[in-house]
Amino acid sequence: MQIIIQKFGGTSVRNRENRLKAVAKVIQAKKSGYSPVVVVSAMGRLGEPYATDSLIAAMKEQIGGEMNAREQDMVMSCGETLSAAVMASMLEAQGYAARALTGGQAGLYTDERFGSANVEHPQPERLRALLAEGIIPVVAGFQGVTRDAEITTLGRGGSDTTAAVLGVMLRAEMTEIYTDVDGIMTADPAILPEARVLSGVSYSEVFQMADNGAKVIHPKAVEISMRGNIPLVIRNTFNDKPGTRITNDQQNGLDVLVSVAHDANRAQIVAEMERPGEEAEVLRRLADEQISIDLINIFPQKLLFTIDQRLLPKARAVLEAMQVRHSVRADCCKISAIGSAMHGVPGVTARILQALARSGVSVLQSADSHMTICCLIDASQTALAVRALHGEFHLERAQ
Ligand code: ADP
Ligand code: MG
Repeated sequence: MQIIIQKFGGTSVRNRENRLKAVAKVIQAKKSGYSPVVVVSAMGRLGEPYATDSLIAAMKEQIGGEMNAREQDMVMSCGETLSAAVMASMLEAQGYAARALTGGQAGLYTDERFGSANVEHPQPERLRALLAEGIIPVVAGFQGVTRDAEITTLGRGGSDTTAAVLGVMLRAEMTEIYTDVDGIMTADPAILPEARVLSGVSYSEVFQMADNGAKVIHPKAVEISMRGNIPLVIRNTFNDKPGTRITNDQQNGLDVLVSVAHDANRAQIVAEMERPGEEAEVLRRLADEQISIDLINIFPQKLLFTIDQRLLPKARAVLEAMQVRHSVRADCCKISAIGSAMHGVPGVTARILQALARSGVSVLQSADSHMTICCLIDASQTALAVRALHGEFHLERAQ
């Protein structure tokens, strides 16, 4: 039995017209001899009635306040549950036996971290039994269940994670992620229309892209698929293009860069250090508050780093409680130039800085690792900077 996982994101299932396209993809796979396992996100984005953010906002309004993490997960899991029931019914209506399942019913056991649970020891029996009967399982993404039957959610991008976990659990031929773009592109097409689709790219390069803000796939899903060695394929729900295949052995020739990612939601913090060892304490206290930081630079009396802008009030409270003097620069964007072939090639950083300077973009901070060079810039210059790097490294040219 050749199993494939087919995950459909929010825009692919937002309305009946789009869902019919998704259903057609599942039927196509079935007709080609595959046993598909479908994973769905909630229907639509914030503002649309059954999107996760809409459900949360509506319930908070009913309460007139906040909800605790456990109850919040119960509400958050509903969007995907509804979506699975609807998709399974639509497949049935077209004459295909299908069964909607919650994450728990699909065997996705997690730890107890409400809101950002990790799947541990998934159980494939129920899905295998359905597949053996020729039934198409439609699994609600983004959710699982603890050993004590508590409903949990897997955090942002969690449906991608569900698909990746199922791919590894069932030893699928591939895990397909269906979305609203033609594949993994050389930059976010929402800000750079000339961005090009990559036909093949490595897990580690896509991980770097995802980890640096390219929201087309969640980094955890890439990591899980890489560890299980299951190919990930990113495709458009709304056409028949081949999409992007992500495996271990993609070669992009001699191109130094494969893609430019951006994360336009960063804030830079500059903290003054008054005694030795204070940096470590600041970093530890921020970590205790679940604030993840990056672009960390340490100088004799100064500590520089960036955080997700939405966590600014929390981070400020930590620094104030520690009586650390600091300044904040909000509305920054981290631009990341990614490509495994840059390793050992001299002059890549110089080209990046020159290209940015030519476009009038000033760099506030930078960092590099073996396949990624990141520059922090003012968020208002995001499109300018992405275009500058894309052009400098000729990413618009075919692979
Ligand atoms: P879904 O709801 O299907 O999960 P997402 O909105 O999470 O879809 O991801 C798709 C979006 O990711 C695209 O519409 C695109 O704007 C964005 N994106 C960012 N970077 C890239 C990239 N390098 N390649 C393709 N899409 C990207
Ligand atoms: Mg997504």
